[in-house]
Amino acid sequence: MNTQYVQGDCIFTRINKTIKQYEYLTEDIETEVIIIGGGVTGAILGYYFSKSNIDSVILEKSRIGHGSTSITTSLLQYELDSNAMELKSYTSMENIIRSYKLGIKALDEIQEFIDKYGNKCDFKRVDSFLYTSKKLEKKEMEQEYNFRKEAGFHVEFIDEDNNPFLFDVKGGVLGKGGGAEFDPYKFTHHLIEESCKKGLRAYENTEVIDVKYSNDEVAVETVYGYKVKGKIVIVATGYNTGLFTKRAFGTKTTTFNIATKPINNIEDICKDVVFRDNNDPYNYFRTTIDNRLIIGGEDINFIPDIYNEELCSKSYEKLEQRLKNLFPNLNMEIEYRYCGAFASTQDNLGFIGKDHNNSKLWYCLGYGANGILFAILGGMMLSKLYCGEVDSDMNLFKLDRFDH
Ligand SMILES: Cc1cc2nc3c(=O)[nH]c(=O)nc-3n(C[C@H](O)[C@H](O)[C@H](O)COP(=O)(O)OP(=O)(O)OC[C@H]3O[C@@H](n4cnc5c(N)ncnc54)[C@H](O)[C@@H]3O)c2cc1C
Repeated sequence: MNTQYVQGDCIFTRINKTIKQYEYLTEDIETEVIIIGGGVTGAILGYYFSKSNIDSVILEKSRIGHGSTSITTSLLQYELDSNAMELKSYTSMENIIRSYKLGIKALDEIQEFIDKYGNKCDFKRVDSFLYTSKKLEKKEMEQEYNFRKEAGFHVEFIDEDNNPFLFDVKGGVLGKGGGAEFDPYKFTHHLIEESCKKGLRAYENTEVIDVKYSNDEVAVETVYGYKVKGKIVIVATGYNTGLFTKRAFGTKTTTFNIATKPINNIEDICKDVVFRDNNDPYNYFRTTIDNRLIIGGEDINFIPDIYNEELCSKSYEKLEQRLKNLFPNLNMEIEYRYCGAFASTQDNLGFIGKDHNNSKLWYCLGYGANGILFAILGGMMLSKLYCGEVDSDMNLFKLDRFDH
């Protein structure tokens, strides 16, 4: 099925000029690691493998960074989509704390990349804020605050008495330094630029249409009939995995974002924090370096609703109304409206690791709202695994953890 996973005016490919165009593959080549998918995940994998001097190739069917990467809100935060108390039905408290800590580790890794290679992607480390404006949910926020505080995270509790924000907060957890924001399209290109200096090869307009495994190698065939041979293949195709496995990963929905035109009087306080409310389903919002607001959420069924313009318009309208309710005094005009596939899992974690029936088929799928941070962890863990080192945290992301 040739499903289109992204619809609308995607902000990051509209506000950015094409940074670099990559060639399409016109010959048979060999490598060690074949990375399929040239979104932010593929770029992250390319970075970690080339950093470890492992020969690798990215094959992208369309253009680099034009899939979900062009629409991700890029609101990075160490906490997961659901609160710890909700997650404990699906996983242990120990695992939740470990996942939060891994989130911080991934944020630090991005920071390290920026410090080393320069900030070409508008990266900014900020606080993360989970809040409710409903009195009834204040207790839930207190529980989350106590949980994180006891686990040693740097958090502050915010309520009506110390609310520094422009909107109503009955209770909220401010994770100090627990968030970041950047331009995912620029980040993807910067990663590939640095990795190519270390030997990574990246091809766009090069769709993989077939994969064949033999005892000592894997060979993929591209749409123009060229072959790439390697030792392993890593699936970094986002929400589109049907060519490689029948396994279903996560529950798919369509999720929505709108972005305003630059706003003159955004208060500075909003610019140093990324926000998520405690509604079900939740909304999340952030600012951009040029003073736009981006808000997301209002998910609907994935298929067939992604093509239902009336339903999509309703979600955009709800998001616009939500922004206006939050910031009635700001003069806002919506410039971009876009949506795409999104997949969530019960424990809010993605999938990183080898296929259990095929040691040459590996996955790095950043499902859940922290997809980009999971991709960073995947890059670190899988490049180590290739060198024979098993990271015990990979257990959290095991492919078969929901199998019965
Ligand atoms: C609206 C929205 C908001 C989000 N907000 C956040 C957020 O705030 N924070 C966060 O961390 N995450 C967020 N996510 C999740 C995040 O966007 C994803 O984890 C991330 O963008 C996925 O990147 P990717 O590279 O895995 O996928 P993609 O960017 O979709 O890249 C996969 C690539 O694989 C290519 N491909 C597919 N099949 C083939 C093939 N056969 N051959 C070659 N190439 C192929 C596609 O063309 C595509 O370019 C959000 C997602 C959505 C949709």
